[in-house]
Amino acid sequence: MTQLKDSFGREITYLRLSVTDRCPFRCVYCVPSEGIKALKRDAYLSPEEMERFVRAMAGMGVWRLRLTGGEPLVRKDIVSLVERFAAISEIRDLALTTNGQRLSNVVYDLKEAGLQRINISLDSLDPKRFQEITGSDSFFKVWSGIIRSLEAGLKVKINVVALQGISKEEIDGFARLAFQYSLEVRFIEFMPLCGSAWKPEMVVPIDEIRSRIAQGYKMAPLSRGTEVAESYDLVGGKGRVGFIASMTEPFCSKCSRIRMSADGKIQLCLFSNIQYDLRPSLQKGAGLEEIQEAIRRMVLKKEAEHPYTGEGMKRREAAHGMMQAIGG
Ligand code: SAM
Ligand code: SF4
Repeated sequence: MTQLKDSFGREITYLRLSVTDRCPFRCVYCVPSEGIKALKRDAYLSPEEMERFVRAMAGMGVWRLRLTGGEPLVRKDIVSLVERFAAISEIRDLALTTNGQRLSNVVYDLKEAGLQRINISLDSLDPKRFQEITGSDSFFKVWSGIIRSLEAGLKVKINVVALQGISKEEIDGFARLAFQYSLEVRFIEFMPLCGSAWKPEMVVPIDEIRSRIAQGYKMAPLSRGTEVAESYDLVGGKGRVGFIASMTEPFCSKCSRIRMSADGKIQLCLFSNIQYDLRPSLQKGAGLEEIQEAIRRMVLKKEAEHPYTGEGMKRREAAHGMMQAIGG
Protein backbone atom coordinates (compact mmCIF):
# COMPACT_ATOMS: atom_id res chain seq x y z
CA MET A 1 0.00 0.00 0.00
CA THR A 2 1.29 3.46 -0.86
CA GLN A 3 0.18 6.04 1.64
CA LEU A 4 -1.90 8.94 0.32
CA LYS A 5 0.05 12.19 0.74
CA ASP A 6 -0.44 15.77 -0.34
CA SER A 7 2.21 18.00 -1.88
CA PHE A 8 3.27 19.24 1.58
CA GLY A 9 3.97 15.71 2.79
CA ARG A 10 0.87 15.53 4.99
CA GLU A 11 -0.51 12.01 5.19
CA ILE A 12 -4.22 11.75 4.52
CA THR A 13 -5.68 9.25 6.97
CA TYR A 14 -9.09 10.68 7.72
CA LEU A 15 -12.19 10.88 5.52
CA ARG A 16 -15.32 12.82 6.36
CA LEU A 17 -18.14 11.56 4.21
CA SER A 18 -21.35 13.53 3.91
CA VAL A 19 -24.17 11.05 3.41
CA THR A 20 -26.85 13.69 2.83
CA ASP A 21 -27.20 17.45 2.55
CA ARG A 22 -30.70 17.37 4.09
CA CYS A 23 -31.28 18.62 7.63
CA PRO A 24 -34.40 19.66 9.55
CA PHE A 25 -32.46 22.16 11.72
CA ARG A 26 -31.55 25.68 10.68
CA CYS A 27 -28.53 26.41 12.86
CA VAL A 28 -27.57 30.06 12.60
CA TYR A 29 -23.89 29.22 12.13
CA CYS A 30 -24.51 26.67 9.40
CA VAL A 31 -27.42 27.71 7.21
CA PRO A 32 -27.34 31.09 5.46
CA SER A 33 -30.53 33.14 5.86
CA GLU A 34 -31.21 32.79 2.15
CA GLY A 35 -31.11 28.99 2.51
CA ILE A 36 -29.21 26.36 0.56
CA LYS A 37 -30.15 24.76 -2.71
CA ALA A 38 -30.74 21.09 -1.95
CA LEU A 39 -29.29 18.33 -4.09
CA LYS A 40 -31.65 16.53 -6.42
CA ARG A 41 -32.42 13.00 -5.24
CA ASP A 42 -30.78 11.46 -8.29
CA ALA A 43 -27.54 13.38 -7.61
CA TYR A 44 -26.69 11.27 -4.57
CA LEU A 45 -24.07 8.57 -4.78
CA SER A 46 -25.54 5.13 -4.21
CA PRO A 47 -24.43 3.19 -1.11
CA GLU A 48 -22.35 0.93 -3.42
CA GLU A 49 -20.58 3.94 -4.95
CA MET A 50 -19.88 5.39 -1.51
CA GLU A 51 -18.48 2.06 -0.42
CA ARG A 52 -16.22 1.79 -3.48
CA PHE A 53 -14.88 5.25 -2.76
CA VAL A 54 -14.28 4.44 0.93
CA ARG A 55 -12.56 1.17 -0.04
CA ALA A 56 -10.31 3.07 -2.45
CA MET A 57 -9.39 5.50 0.33
CA ALA A 58 -8.89 2.70 2.84
CA GLY A 59 -6.51 1.05 0.38
CA MET A 60 -4.31 4.16 0.55
CA GLY A 61 -4.01 4.37 4.32
CA VAL A 62 -7.23 6.08 5.39
CA TRP A 63 -8.32 4.44 8.64
CA ARG A 64 -10.63 7.04 10.18
CA LEU A 65 -14.09 7.56 8.73
CA ARG A 66 -16.73 9.99 9.94
CA LEU A 67 -20.25 10.05 8.51
CA THR A 68 -21.72 13.52 8.53
CA GLY A 69 -23.99 15.79 6.56
CA GLY A 70 -26.49 17.59 6.61
CA GLU A 71 -28.04 15.33 9.17
CA PRO A 72 -26.96 11.69 8.62
CA LEU A 73 -29.83 10.29 10.66
CA VAL A 74 -32.46 11.55 8.20
CA ARG A 75 -31.35 8.67 5.97
CA LYS A 76 -33.57 5.65 6.43
CA ASP A 77 -30.70 3.35 5.50
CA ILE A 78 -28.19 4.85 7.95
CA VAL A 79 -27.81 1.63 9.96
CA SER A 80 -27.06 -0.44 6.88
CA LEU A 81 -24.64 2.23 5.67
CA VAL A 82 -22.77 2.02 8.97
CA GLU A 83 -22.73 -1.77 8.67
CA ARG A 84 -21.33 -1.50 5.15
CA PHE A 85 -18.45 0.77 6.22
CA ALA A 86 -17.77 -1.16 9.44
CA ALA A 87 -17.09 -4.22 7.28
CA ILE A 88 -14.06 -2.52 5.68
CA SER A 89 -11.25 -3.93 7.77
CA GLU A 90 -8.85 -0.99 7.31
CA ILE A 91 -11.37 1.42 8.85
CA ARG A 92 -10.41 1.18 12.50
CA ASP A 93 -12.27 4.26 13.65
CA LEU A 94 -15.88 4.69 12.55
CA ALA A 95 -17.70 7.76 13.83
CA LEU A 96 -20.78 9.81 13.08
CA THR A 97 -21.76 13.43 13.75
CA THR A 98 -25.42 14.17 14.39
CA ASN A 99 -27.72 16.88 15.69
CA GLY A 100 -29.15 14.17 17.95
CA GLN A 101 -32.80 14.81 17.16
CA ARG A 102 -33.49 11.29 15.87
CA LEU A 103 -30.78 9.54 17.79
CA SER A 104 -32.33 7.87 20.81
CA ASN A 105 -34.37 5.30 18.83
CA VAL A 106 -31.56 4.23 16.54
CA VAL A 107 -28.43 4.46 18.66
CA TYR A 108 -28.35 0.82 19.80
CA ASP A 109 -28.75 -0.32 16.17
CA LEU A 110 -25.90 1.97 15.11
CA LYS A 111 -23.68 0.55 17.82
CA GLU A 112 -24.54 -2.99 16.84
CA ALA A 113 -23.84 -2.15 13.18
CA GLY A 114 -20.27 -1.21 14.13
CA LEU A 115 -20.31 2.49 15.01
CA GLN A 116 -17.64 3.30 17.59
CA ARG A 117 -17.95 6.98 18.29
CA ILE A 118 -20.60 9.64 18.08
CA ASN A 119 -20.42 13.45 18.14
CA ILE A 120 -23.65 15.13 19.10
CA SER A 121 -24.13 18.84 18.54
CA LEU A 122 -25.57 20.75 21.47
CA ASP A 123 -24.87 24.45 21.57
CA SER A 124 -26.81 25.35 24.69
CA LEU A 125 -28.10 23.67 27.84
CA ASP A 126 -31.01 26.08 27.87
CA PRO A 127 -33.91 24.77 25.71
CA LYS A 128 -34.92 28.31 24.74
CA ARG A 129 -31.45 29.35 23.57
CA PHE A 130 -31.09 25.95 21.89
CA GLN A 131 -34.22 26.74 19.88
CA GLU A 132 -32.98 30.22 18.99
CA ILE A 133 -29.75 28.73 17.62
CA THR A 134 -31.11 25.67 15.84
CA GLY A 135 -34.65 26.69 14.97
CA SER A 136 -35.81 23.42 16.56
CA ASP A 137 -37.61 22.62 19.81
CA SER A 138 -35.92 19.22 20.06
CA PHE A 139 -33.69 19.97 23.06
CA PHE A 140 -35.05 17.11 25.18
CA LYS A 141 -34.88 14.64 22.28
CA VAL A 142 -31.21 15.53 21.82
CA TRP A 143 -30.59 15.15 25.53
CA SER A 144 -32.18 11.72 25.56
CA GLY A 145 -30.04 10.79 22.53
CA ILE A 146 -26.94 11.71 24.52
CA ILE A 147 -27.95 9.59 27.50
CA ARG A 148 -28.90 6.61 25.31
CA SER A 149 -25.56 6.86 23.45
CA LEU A 150 -23.71 6.60 26.75
CA GLU A 151 -25.89 3.67 27.80
CA ALA A 152 -25.20 1.96 24.48
CA GLY A 153 -21.48 2.17 25.20
CA LEU A 154 -20.47 4.58 22.45
CA LYS A 155 -17.68 7.09 22.94
CA VAL A 156 -19.52 10.39 23.09
CA LYS A 157 -18.44 13.92 22.28
CA ILE A 158 -20.66 16.96 22.53
CA ASN A 159 -19.92 19.62 19.90
CA VAL A 160 -20.52 23.18 21.09
CA VAL A 161 -20.00 26.00 18.60
CA ALA A 162 -18.85 28.95 20.69
CA LEU A 163 -21.04 31.79 19.50
CA GLN A 164 -20.88 35.38 20.57
CA GLY A 165 -23.33 35.65 23.46
CA ILE A 166 -22.33 32.36 25.09
CA SER A 167 -22.46 33.22 28.78
CA LYS A 168 -19.97 32.38 31.50
CA GLU A 169 -22.75 30.39 33.19
CA GLU A 170 -23.28 28.40 30.01
CA ILE A 171 -19.56 27.58 29.83
CA ASP A 172 -19.69 26.52 33.49
CA GLY A 173 -22.73 24.34 32.74
CA PHE A 174 -20.92 22.53 29.94
CA ALA A 175 -17.86 22.02 32.13
CA ARG A 176 -20.13 20.52 34.82
CA LEU A 177 -21.59 18.19 32.20
CA ALA A 178 -18.10 17.02 31.28
CA PHE A 179 -17.27 16.54 34.96
CA GLN A 180 -20.37 14.49 35.70
CA TYR A 181 -20.62 12.30 32.59
CA SER A 182 -18.17 10.09 30.81
CA LEU A 183 -17.99 12.20 27.65
CA GLU A 184 -16.00 15.00 26.05
CA VAL A 185 -17.44 18.47 25.58
CA ARG A 186 -15.73 20.10 22.61
CA PHE A 187 -15.87 23.81 22.09
CA ILE A 188 -15.45 24.79 18.44
CA GLU A 189 -14.70 28.25 17.14
CA PHE A 190 -17.31 29.70 14.82
CA MET A 191 -16.00 29.30 11.29
CA PRO A 192 -16.96 31.47 8.31
CA LEU A 193 -19.07 28.95 6.41
CA CYS A 194 -22.56 30.33 6.49
CA GLY A 195 -22.64 33.43 4.31
CA SER A 196 -23.86 36.63 5.93
CA ALA A 197 -24.42 35.16 9.42
CA TRP A 198 -20.66 35.28 10.12
CA LYS A 199 -18.64 38.30 11.21
CA PRO A 200 -15.12 38.14 12.67
CA GLU A 201 -16.36 39.74 15.90
CA MET A 202 -18.76 36.82 16.42
CA VAL A 203 -15.87 34.41 16.93
CA VAL A 204 -15.34 33.73 20.62
CA PRO A 205 -11.64 32.92 20.95
CA ILE A 206 -11.22 29.45 22.44
CA ASP A 207 -8.72 30.85 24.90
CA GLU A 208 -11.52 32.74 26.69
CA ILE A 209 -13.42 29.51 27.24
CA ARG A 210 -10.35 27.51 28.23
CA SER A 211 -9.39 30.17 30.80
CA ARG A 212 -12.90 30.26 32.23
CA ILE A 213 -12.94 26.47 32.76
CA ALA A 214 -9.44 26.56 34.25
CA GLN A 215 -10.78 28.85 36.98
CA GLY A 216 -13.13 26.14 38.23
CA TYR A 217 -11.32 22.87 37.43
CA LYS A 218 -7.91 21.29 37.45
CA MET A 219 -7.26 20.41 33.83
CA ALA A 220 -4.80 17.66 32.86
CA PRO A 221 -3.71 17.88 29.18
CA LEU A 222 -4.01 14.74 27.08
CA SER A 223 -1.61 13.77 24.35
CA ARG A 224 -2.83 15.40 21.12
CA GLY A 225 -1.37 13.14 18.43
CA THR A 226 -3.00 14.00 15.10
CA GLU A 227 -6.16 15.28 16.80
CA VAL A 228 -7.25 18.79 15.89
CA ALA A 229 -8.69 19.28 19.36
CA GLU A 230 -6.63 20.01 22.40
CA SER A 231 -8.22 17.90 25.16
CA TYR A 232 -7.99 17.90 28.95
CA ASP A 233 -9.22 15.53 31.63
CA LEU A 234 -11.13 17.32 34.33
CA VAL A 235 -9.28 15.98 37.33
CA GLY A 236 -11.60 14.14 39.75
CA GLY A 237 -14.43 14.04 37.21
CA LYS A 238 -15.65 11.46 34.69
CA GLY A 239 -15.12 13.29 31.42
CA ARG A 240 -13.02 15.82 29.60
CA VAL A 241 -13.14 19.04 27.65
CA GLY A 242 -11.66 19.74 24.24
CA PHE A 243 -11.03 22.88 22.22
CA ILE A 244 -10.96 23.33 18.46
CA ALA A 245 -9.49 26.72 17.67
CA SER A 246 -9.66 26.57 13.87
CA MET A 247 -9.61 30.35 13.62
CA THR A 248 -7.31 31.65 16.36
CA GLU A 249 -4.93 28.67 16.55
CA PRO A 250 -5.21 26.96 13.14
CA PHE A 251 -3.86 23.44 12.80
CA CYS A 252 -3.62 23.32 8.99
CA SER A 253 -0.03 22.08 9.04
CA LYS A 254 -1.26 18.89 10.76
CA CYS A 255 -4.34 18.40 8.61
CA SER A 256 -4.90 14.76 7.69
CA ARG A 257 -8.41 14.93 6.28
CA ILE A 258 -10.35 15.20 3.11
CA ARG A 259 -14.08 15.34 2.61
CA MET A 260 -16.61 14.00 0.18
CA SER A 261 -20.09 15.37 -0.41
CA ALA A 262 -23.17 13.20 -0.84
CA ASP A 263 -23.04 13.76 -4.60
CA GLY A 264 -19.45 12.63 -4.96
CA LYS A 265 -17.46 15.86 -4.87
CA ILE A 266 -14.13 15.73 -3.13
CA GLN A 267 -13.34 18.77 -1.03
CA LEU A 268 -9.73 19.09 0.08
CA CYS A 269 -10.35 21.79 2.70
CA LEU A 270 -13.62 23.05 4.20
CA PHE A 271 -12.83 26.51 2.90
CA SER A 272 -11.68 25.56 -0.56
CA ASN A 273 -13.62 26.78 -3.57
CA ILE A 274 -12.32 23.96 -5.70
CA GLN A 275 -14.23 20.71 -5.78
CA TYR A 276 -13.36 17.58 -7.72
CA ASP A 277 -16.24 15.60 -9.06
CA LEU A 278 -15.61 11.88 -8.69
CA ARG A 279 -19.20 10.87 -9.35
CA PRO A 280 -18.79 10.32 -13.12
CA SER A 281 -15.96 7.82 -12.52
CA LEU A 282 -17.81 6.10 -9.69
CA GLN A 283 -20.98 5.86 -11.77
CA LYS A 284 -19.28 4.50 -14.83
CA GLY A 285 -18.01 1.69 -12.62
CA ALA A 286 -14.34 2.67 -12.30
CA GLY A 287 -12.28 0.10 -10.38
CA LEU A 288 -10.31 0.75 -7.20
CA GLU A 289 -7.02 1.49 -8.95
CA GLU A 290 -8.52 4.01 -11.32
CA ILE A 291 -10.30 5.79 -8.45
CA GLN A 292 -7.14 5.77 -6.35
CA GLU A 293 -5.13 7.28 -9.17
CA ALA A 294 -7.68 10.09 -9.55
CA ILE A 295 -7.66 10.75 -5.79
CA ARG A 296 -3.86 10.84 -5.64
CA ARG A 297 -3.79 13.47 -8.37
CA MET A 298 -6.48 15.57 -6.64
CA VAL A 299 -4.90 15.42 -3.23
CA LEU A 300 -1.74 17.07 -4.57
CA LYS A 301 -3.83 20.22 -4.94
CA LYS A 302 -4.70 20.38 -1.23
CA GLU A 303 -4.07 23.91 0.03
CA ALA A 304 -1.36 24.62 2.61
CA GLU A 305 -3.75 26.44 4.93
CA HIS A 306 -7.21 27.97 5.04
CA PRO A 307 -7.65 31.59 3.94
CA TYR A 308 -8.72 32.91 7.35
CA THR A 309 -5.47 32.28 9.17
CA GLY A 310 -3.57 35.26 10.63
CA GLU A 311 -4.50 38.48 8.82
CA GLY A 312 -7.09 36.46 6.91
CA MET A 313 -9.27 36.60 10.00
CA LYS A 314 -9.97 40.23 9.14
CA ARG A 315 -11.78 39.23 5.96
CA ARG A 316 -15.39 40.23 6.37
CA GLU A 317 -16.97 37.80 3.99
CA ALA A 318 -17.62 34.13 4.70
CA ALA A 319 -17.93 31.17 2.40
CA HIS A 320 -21.53 30.48 1.44
CA GLY A 321 -23.52 27.69 3.08
CA MET A 322 -20.88 25.10 2.56
CA MET A 323 -21.01 23.25 5.84
CA GLN A 324 -24.34 21.58 5.26
CA ALA A 325 -23.47 20.60 1.70
CA ILE A 326 -19.95 19.37 2.33
CA GLY A 327 -20.36 18.04 5.82
CA GLY A 328 -18.78 19.44 8.95
N1 SAM B 1 -26.05 17.79 11.38
C1 SAM B 1 -24.99 17.23 12.11
C2 SAM B 1 -24.66 18.05 13.33
O1 SAM B 1 -25.11 19.18 13.43
O2 SAM B 1 -23.95 17.54 14.18
C3 SAM B 1 -23.75 16.97 11.28
C4 SAM B 1 -23.34 18.05 10.30
S1 SAM B 1 -22.79 19.56 11.03
C5 SAM B 1 -22.41 20.51 9.60
C6 SAM B 1 -21.23 19.06 11.71
C7 SAM B 1 -20.66 19.95 12.78
O3 SAM B 1 -20.28 21.18 12.21
C8 SAM B 1 -21.63 20.28 13.91
O4 SAM B 1 -21.06 19.96 15.15
C9 SAM B 1 -21.82 21.76 13.80
O5 SAM B 1 -21.99 22.35 15.05
C10 SAM B 1 -20.52 22.20 13.13
N2 SAM B 1 -20.64 23.47 12.42
C11 SAM B 1 -21.54 23.82 11.48
N3 SAM B 1 -21.32 25.07 11.04
C12 SAM B 1 -20.24 25.53 11.72
C13 SAM B 1 -19.52 26.76 11.71
N4 SAM B 1 -19.86 27.76 10.92
N5 SAM B 1 -18.47 26.87 12.54
C14 SAM B 1 -18.10 25.86 13.35
N6 SAM B 1 -18.74 24.67 13.40
C15 SAM B 1 -19.81 24.52 12.60
FE1 SF4 C 1 -28.20 20.86 10.42
FE2 SF4 C 1 -25.95 20.17 11.60
FE3 SF4 C 1 -26.05 22.34 10.03
FE4 SF4 C 1 -27.30 22.40 12.35
S1 SF4 C 1 -25.09 22.16 12.03
S2 SF4 C 1 -28.18 23.04 10.37
S3 SF4 C 1 -27.97 20.33 12.57
S4 SF4 C 1 -26.29 20.25 9.39
